[in-house]
Amino acid sequence: MDTPDTSIGFGQLGLAPAVAQAVEDLGYETPTPVQLQCIPHLLAGRDLLGQAQTGTGKTAAFALPLLSRVDPTQRGPQILVLTPTRELALQVAEAFQGYAQHLKGFLVLPIYGGQAYGLQLSQLKRNPQVIVGTPGRVMDHLKRGTLALDVLKTLVLDEADEMLNMGFAEDIDWIFEQTPPGRQVALFSATMPAGIRRVAQTRLSDPVEIRVTADSETVDTIDQHHCVVTRFHKLDVLTRILELEPFDGMLVFVRTKHATVELADKLKAHGFAAEPLNGDMSQEMRERTVERLKQGQLDILVATDVAARGLDVERLSHVVNYDIPTDPSAYVHRIGRTGRAGRAGRAILLVEPRERGLLRAIERTIRRSVPAMEPPSASQLSESRIDRFTAELRKTLTEQDLDFFYRLVARLGTEQEMELMDIAAALAYLTQRERPLDVKADLPRPAATRPERPERGPRSEGRDEGRPRPARDGDRGAPRPEGAREDGRDRPRPQGRGSEGLTSYRIEVGHQHGATPREIVGAIANESGLEGRYIGRIDIRDDHSLVDLPEGMPREIFNHLKRVYVRGQALRISLADGSAAGTRRGGGETTGSPRPDQPSYERKPREPGFHQERRRKRTDPS
Ligand code: AMP
Repeated sequence: MDTPDTSIGFGQLGLAPAVAQAVEDLGYETPTPVQLQCIPHLLAGRDLLGQAQTGTGKTAAFALPLLSRVDPTQRGPQILVLTPTRELALQVAEAFQGYAQHLKGFLVLPIYGGQAYGLQLSQLKRNPQVIVGTPGRVMDHLKRGTLALDVLKTLVLDEADEMLNMGFAEDIDWIFEQTPPGRQVALFSATMPAGIRRVAQTRLSDPVEIRVTADSETVDTIDQHHCVVTRFHKLDVLTRILELEPFDGMLVFVRTKHATVELADKLKAHGFAAEPLNGDMSQEMRERTVERLKQGQLDILVATDVAARGLDVERLSHVVNYDIPTDPSAYVHRIGRTGRAGRAGRAILLVEPRERGLLRAIERTIRRSVPAMEPPSASQLSESRIDRFTAELRKTLTEQDLDFFYRLVARLGTEQEMELMDIAAALAYLTQRERPLDVKADLPRPAATRPERPERGPRSEGRDEGRPRPARDGDRGAPRPEGAREDGRDRPRPQGRGSEGLTSYRIEVGHQHGATPREIVGAIANESGLEGRYIGRIDIRDDHSLVDLPEGMPREIFNHLKRVYVRGQALRISLADGSAAGTRRGGGETTGSPRPDQPSYERKPREPGFHQERRRKRTDPS
C-alpha cells in the first residue's frame, strides 16, 4: 500500500522561501503523495504527465513548484493553467493566490467564458503572471491579441480528460501552437484515455510520469459510512451526528493544523469535550491531550494525519473524516485508529459534492463500497431529545427530594389559577430554550453539482466553448441565461425583472469579510439548486457584493438564501434596487413555461430535500 511518507516535510522539497512560508501559513503539515512526486520534477523544469484526482492536493503539486520558479518582477503570463470549467478556474486561481501571498506585486487572473470581456481586458492590461482559464476564452483573448504568451514558462492542463470530453481538443492544440518553444508542460488527468496519451506524446518532451495509486486494502472490522454534505453544512451535520451517535471516544480528522483548533473550538462551543491535536503542539502537550482522552476527561480529538499517527486508544469507538483525506491510503490509516483491541469501530466520512471522485478512489482502495448515510433528520433529533428529556424527568422524580416543588406547583394552581397541564407545558418549554425539543428544519441536501465525468448533454459546463460550436462573432463565451448580457462592473445592471434575464441582488458579505467569488458561487449554487454557470457577474465591494442571478427566483429560495452564511456572514440577500423579491410558485410573476434550456433553481430532481419539504409545508403563499 502507498503509505504516505510523512518523514519528508515541505522544508526539504526546495520550494522558494516565500512559497514555503505560504504553505506554513495555510497550515499544511506534510506534502501529499502527489506533491511529493511532482514537486521535485516540476522544480527541475521537467515536463510531467500526472494521473491524479481532484482532492489529492494536485493543485498545490503544480502551483508550489511553478510559483517557486516564476520571476515576480517580470510582468506578463509566465504560467497558464487551462481548466475545463469556470468553477475549477476560480478554484485554481484562488489556490494560486493563497500560495503566492508572499510574492510581492504578484497577480493571478482567472478568465472564463460568460464573464464580461471589458473586465477581463482591464485585468489583463495589468499583466498578471498567472492566468487560469477555460480554453475557449483563453483562445479568444489570444486571437484578439489581448493575451500574449511570449514570456510563458509553463503550460498546465488540469483535468485534461475532462477538457477532451468537452470538445476542447482543437482549442488546446491551437493554444499549444501559441506557446514559445522550450516551455514546460504539466498535464494532469484523472484517467489516461488514448486521447490524453496522444497529447502527451505529441506535446510533452520526455515527461516524467506520476501516478497516485494505492494498493487495495480491506478494513472489514470497521462499520463505514459516508455522508454527502456541502461545506457550509459540515459543522451542522457533525454536531447532529455527535448528538445522535452513541460514542465513547471520537477522533475527527481535518486537513490543516488551523482547522484542528477552529473545529475543536466550535465543538466546545456546542458543549462537547473536544480538543485539537496537531503538529504545532509540543510532544508533551500532545501526550497530555491523548492521556486526557484515555481517562475520559475528553471525548473528542480533532486531529491532522501527522498528529494522530500511531494513536492507539481503546476508547476510540468512532473516527469521523470531517475533511476527506487527500489520498486514499490515508483513509485506511485514519479509520484504523478505531476498532482497536477487537472492539467494534465506526467510521463516518463527510464528502463535499465535488469530492465524490475521491470517495470512489477510496472505495477502490479498500475494495468495498462505503455506503451512504443520511445526515440525522430533524425528527430523529427531536425524538432523541425527547427521549433524553423523558429519562431526565424520570430520574429527577425518583432521585430528587421534590417536596418544596410539589408545594410550589400546588400554590401556583390555587393562587394563580393555573392548570397543572399548563404549568407542566410552560416548564417543559423553559427547560429547552437553548436546545429545542421540537427541531424544525432538516438540513438542505447538496445539489448534484458537476458530475465527475461531464455529461455530454447540450448544456454541459463550458460546452459552448468547445466543439462543435457555432461560428463566433467575436464576443461569445460560456452559456448565459436567456437575455443575459456580458457587461461589466462599470455598467448599471438591469434592476427590473424579465427584460434582460438577470436580476441584480445585493448580499451582505464583501472584501472586508474575506469573501471570494468561488465561495459566493458555491454557496448560492448549493443552496438554491441553481447551476453555478447561471450565476452571472459577482462584484465584491467592501462590505457587500452584487450578484446577478436569473430572474424568477422562488420566494422560498430567496428567503432561504438570506440565512445562508459565507465567511461567517449571513448573506441577507436583497434586490439591489431595494424592491421586494421572490416569485411565487404557481401564482408566478414569470409567464409561460420555462424553456428546457432556461436556468432553473432546481434543475436536478432532488430526493425529498428542503426545497420540496418547504414547498409542501408552505401554507401561506404570500
Ligand atoms: P486539490 O486536489 O488540489 O483540489 O486539493 C484538495 C484540498 O487539499 C485543498 O483544499 C487543499 O487546500 C488541500 N491540501 C493540498 N495540499 C495539502 C497538504 N499538503 N496538507 C493539507 N491540505 C492540503
